[in-house]
Amino acid sequence: MTRLPYLNARLQGFGTTIFAEMSALAAETGAINLGQGFPDTDGPAEVSEAAIEAIRSGRNQYPPGPGIEDLRRAVAEHQARFWNLTVDPATEVLVTAGATEALAAAMLALCEIGDEVVVFDPTYDSYPAGIAMAGARQRSVLLRPPAPDADGNAFTFDRDDLADAFTPKTRLLLLNTPHNPTGKVFRDEELRLIAELCRHHDVLAVTDEVYEHLVFEGTHRPLATYPGMAERTLTVSSGGKSFSFTGWKIGWATGPAEVVAAVRTAKQFLTFVNGAPFQPAIATGLRLGDDYFDRFTDTLRSKRDLLCAMLTEAGFDVAVPEGTYFATADISPLGLTDGLDFCLRLPALAGVVAVPSSVFYEDPSDGARLIRFCFAKRDEVLTEAGRRLIDAFGSRRQRGLTSSSGSC
Ligand code: PMP
Ligand code: GLN
Repeated sequence: MTRLPYLNARLQGFGTTIFAEMSALAAETGAINLGQGFPDTDGPAEVSEAAIEAIRSGRNQYPPGPGIEDLRRAVAEHQARFWNLTVDPATEVLVTAGATEALAAAMLALCEIGDEVVVFDPTYDSYPAGIAMAGARQRSVLLRPPAPDADGNAFTFDRDDLADAFTPKTRLLLLNTPHNPTGKVFRDEELRLIAELCRHHDVLAVTDEVYEHLVFEGTHRPLATYPGMAERTLTVSSGGKSFSFTGWKIGWATGPAEVVAAVRTAKQFLTFVNGAPFQPAIATGLRLGDDYFDRFTDTLRSKRDLLCAMLTEAGFDVAVPEGTYFATADISPLGLTDGLDFCLRLPALAGVVAVPSSVFYEDPSDGARLIRFCFAKRDEVLTEAGRRLIDAFGSRRQRGLTSSSGSC
């Protein structure tokens, strides 16, 4: 990793995000981009029309620091409607520049230098950077790849590993469910254990629920709904994924007023505020009927099935995700072992871009053979990408090639 002479020690090694790198590779090579997680179609017209209307009607100056009141109300209504969580829009909701800012502001506001943050490994890429910026330390609990147990639960963790990750220095537990990159939806018994340990060690939880409406199997249950957790959990989400407007960067955090006040203090010196006309539009989105949310989940489920079937036919071992935008494929059956090298060569080999999962692991060797594909794309795009992968690798498995330096 190149050392940047002016970059402080905390951020050395973070480099350019894999998403920017892989989207640039797709643009350069003209390959189909199944790397960075964003949809290739716009979200609901009511929502984009509300933004256009807001711009036309002059809602173009700084919104209030905590977010416009109507969006804070809409977030509170959404939390009550879907998850039976009661939050006060005046003091327990904060609008942020995407979930990314909410998470970074939470680390900066809640951690002292040297505190520890428990995370599940692999993590979304902004977590280690946010923890480092806050001067805190990451304590990782490995989600074991991916042999599903009898119950179909892939990416399980060891109870003792989680218990051992809590130390007297633990300040926060950071949980992402549904989980990027694995597609895991944490189970009730797993969430119960997490909640029990947070309570026992008097630790705050920060939960990243940006894929809360993308659950295909099982159910999403926010950690804040477990006994004793509402008072110690900051719940983070965003309109990017739920309404397919990832570039608008409207996110939010909800939780106890004192925790929200702390995070607001850090947030106001990061962006202060953002996205004035997009805030009322996301409020419109949050109030859409159940039919919108049901259709959204069904559509993405069918895209998941389409892509996973083609990846399997191309010869990958596929961990079918229970949620999110992403499917994880193991390249071992192709006789290959280095997912990073494979992803760098994939545009030339097959005209497709994927993301190497190793970049999400604390020890990259834990995810060396895994790669991540995004299926939030039009069916014809997924079909074409699948066809290219099958053409490039489909016969390889049958031929039983095992050499990692093989011909591809
Ligand atoms: N957390 C996870 C797990 C993500 O996948 C993403 C990307 N949507 C984010 C946070 C960032 O969300 P936003 O674009 O709202 O900042
Ligand atoms: N969350 C998206 C992903 O996992 C990317 C967002 C970003 O590029 N920062 O692909």
